[in-house]
Amino acid sequence: MKFPIYMDNHSTTPMDPRVLEAMLPYFIEKFGNAASRNHQFGWEAEEAVENARKQIAKLIHCDAKEIVFTSGATESDNLALKGVVEMYKEKGDHIITCTTEHRAILDTCKSLEKRGIKVTYLPVEKDGRVNPDEVRKAITDKTILISIMLANNEIGTIHPIAEIGKIAKEKGVLLHCDATQGVGKIPVDVETLKVDLMSFTSHKIYGPKGVGALYVRKKGPRVRLVPQIDGGGHERGMRSGTLPVPLIIGFGKACELCEQEMPVESKRIAAMRDRLQAQIMKDLDESYLNGHPTERLPHNLNISFAYVEGEALLMGVKEVALSSGSACTSATLEPSYVLRALGVGSDLAHSSIRFGLGRFTTDEEFDYTGKRMVEAVKRLREMSPLYEMAKEGIDLKSVQWAVH
Ligand SMILES: *Cc1c(COP(=O)(O)O)cnc(C)c1O
Repeated sequence: MKFPIYMDNHSTTPMDPRVLEAMLPYFIEKFGNAASRNHQFGWEAEEAVENARKQIAKLIHCDAKEIVFTSGATESDNLALKGVVEMYKEKGDHIITCTTEHRAILDTCKSLEKRGIKVTYLPVEKDGRVNPDEVRKAITDKTILISIMLANNEIGTIHPIAEIGKIAKEKGVLLHCDATQGVGKIPVDVETLKVDLMSFTSHKIYGPKGVGALYVRKKGPRVRLVPQIDGGGHERGMRSGTLPVPLIIGFGKACELCEQEMPVESKRIAAMRDRLQAQIMKDLDESYLNGHPTERLPHNLNISFAYVEGEALLMGVKEVALSSGSACTSATLEPSYVLRALGVGSDLAHSSIRFGLGRFTTDEEFDYTGKRMVEAVKRLREMSPLYEMAKEGIDLKSVQWAVH
């Protein structure tokens, strides 16, 4: 086994060597600008880009013309929300999203609120899912867009997008979906989901960093956007700028590999995940699964270990790259807003660990991680007076703590 072990595949994934191989010729040999219409260099680059566009479209079952290249999911989210709000401002000024979205959505919404847009942040249920009835209730005659993610990046919970899509269609409201965590991991079909816009990114599916896509529906309805970057009118006028040809080739190859390998890969990863979950639940009392038990990504496991600080746990298992539910966003250590939105208390949110498995995670690495985790939790609990008191049957809520 090689250390450190990478178990943080929700943050980013290593590139697949087959992706790198596909990209290499496009740096030096085939360096053309895909927008150069007058010579062989340009034609060659354009042809390769269009082939990649097809590979990407195939993975989500759309037409290649509906793919707009961006720099990543953050930009796709910005373009979708800001582009729709500006284009449809005559129609209304209200959008609907939910509290557990990625920062790329929440911060974009905050920025839109400053411009006078009204945003409804729907709560989620205990298992992390948005209730489609709540979406229906939130829609007004001023609603122009609903944006709900496909699967959450912390807890892996998969939202009922197809049901929300049905409601959006009935009401004539556009639906955007940040599908960054779902694409390439679970089957995604824009028709089944009834989405009009969808964001995703290459570096979470074993492709290179710095390239992503926005799916923009062309028919039923034809979605229009105000571009957020002006320039040469690339990408059907929606996103100007010279296309990063090698990155796009890599993104295309990554999508092709996901499409081919997903059925086998997802099963293998989910089985490994289930084994670890069972082992932890068997060996450790007071460990709690965060998120939905079944409607979740195959490679996600998020568990809170009561009486243990997630950060301390990470320090105790330094040879494994994991993520905890405490986001060191500012000077203060804030517990994860996603876990808080599920109603998880601040203590348990601080004690959560996210395991993010991936294509290159081996059984050996995974078993090692499980064993080390159990050991570390046990050791930290041995040092915890709170855990000891709880085991002695003292109700911690009734304890009068001395205030200094
Ligand atoms: C990673 C992630 C993003 C950001 O993607 P970038 O390509 O890094 O900008 C957006 N949304 C979700 C759900 C993500 O997991």
